[in-house]
Amino acid sequence: MHLRLTDEQKMVQKTIRRFVEKELIPLENEVLRNEREGRPSLPPGKLKELQLKAKEAGFWGINTPEEYGGADLGQMMMAIVLMEVSKTFVPFSFGGSADNILYYGNEEQKQKYLIPTINGEKKSCFAMTEPGAGSDTRNIKMTAVKDGNDWVLNGEKTFITGGNEADFVMVIAITDKERHQATQGREGVTCFIADRDMGWKSEYIHTMGDWGPAGLVFDNVRVPEENILGELHKGYNLGLEWIGFARWIVGARAVGSAERLLQMAIDYSRERITFGKPIAERQAIQWQIADSAVEIEAARWLVLNAAFTLDEGEDNRHLASMAKLYGSNMGNRVVDRVLQIHGGMGYTKELPIERWYREARLWRIYDGTDEIQRMIIARNLIKGHVKVGQNL
Ligand SMILES: Cc1cc2nc3c(=O)[nH]c(=O)nc-3n(C[C@H](O)[C@H](O)[C@H](O)COP(=O)(O)OP(=O)(O)OC[C@H]3O[C@@H](n4cnc5c(N)ncnc54)[C@H](O)[C@@H]3O)c2cc1C
Repeated sequence: MHLRLTDEQKMVQKTIRRFVEKELIPLENEVLRNEREGRPSLPPGKLKELQLKAKEAGFWGINTPEEYGGADLGQMMMAIVLMEVSKTFVPFSFGGSADNILYYGNEEQKQKYLIPTINGEKKSCFAMTEPGAGSDTRNIKMTAVKDGNDWVLNGEKTFITGGNEADFVMVIAITDKERHQATQGREGVTCFIADRDMGWKSEYIHTMGDWGPAGLVFDNVRVPEENILGELHKGYNLGLEWIGFARWIVGARAVGSAERLLQMAIDYSRERITFGKPIAERQAIQWQIADSAVEIEAARWLVLNAAFTLDEGEDNRHLASMAKLYGSNMGNRVVDRVLQIHGGMGYTKELPIERWYREARLWRIYDGTDEIQRMIIARNLIKGHVKVGQNL
């Protein structure tokens, strides 16, 4: 066992760190100003420009297989990269990637949806959640009924990330009610690729964070049979795979953000004088800094372990739930302490802390809430699927 980054990993970390410092952090004030004044965080075309700069540095399709032009760096590298890039709140994402489940498409679907998504020509979204079915994904109500060569979709989806911008949605609907009931929702649902011009509508949902998901309405939307992604009646597992993929990644984001925030608190506490001394000299402040540092390290190792396990080709779902649960809660505790250490300034929109505070609150909700992660972790242990401390 060797608990250090390899030379290659260090080099990637350094390159991304430089990219973040040189290209992203200088945009932070503009992002804050734009958001304060109700404009999009980045001006049109800026994200693409940044993605092309990252591409020049070799970062394009970090997890995309080489046959699709990606770098296919693996999960550990992805964790390292995400922890670095999350040190800024500038809404940047690397180009050259597509949703994991799109790779299940047949050749025609890959040409029509996967490759244009990787190339940035098309935007996708994924829709499972409904007004009456969030954590309880098996309780969805949207239906798809066969009519000739088409399936006719009716129902509503909610909280869909990117739903306002997407050209197409991968949407989960019930295709066999009896089978759906008989299998407690595990079967009888299918994933359809539905282009926006097939007729679904989206509506922006205002949220605490600065980007809004969308509600989607399907009113007799006709989707051709060839747009079924994966197998008919077997879409539930695709849904779980889509949700599961992002889980430990939330933890990675929390680690990067918390590191930057903690550094801000340390710097501020050295400068801010009260009652004749820097607040850094007060035990009340020191303990908040110390607790935050310990918790960041704990989350980092949970994230790296989840990523490493996946690279080893092993099932990382239990670890991913742990990394998500602990990482997102750690992120919330750290941002709260950092805001407190900054006093009134922490509460203003002059600094990014309140923005991060609002963003961090989401980490505990999407991709499976705290309660759902605890349920998964406890169930695995109680049912004996995983033993306490079995990782090493
Ligand atoms: C900004 C944002 C983006 C999102 N993006 C997407 C997306 O792209 N695609 C998509 O399909 N979905 C998306 N979601 C939906 C997200 O996955 C759900 O909001 C989440 O799974 C929780 O579901 P819910 O909101 O219906 O809460 P509910 O399931 O109604 O839960 C309400 C509360 O009860 C708790 N709870 C529920 N069941 C149990 C239980 N058995 N035991 C104990 N406690 C329980 C929950 O933890 C929560 O605290 C997004 C959500 C948000 C807010």
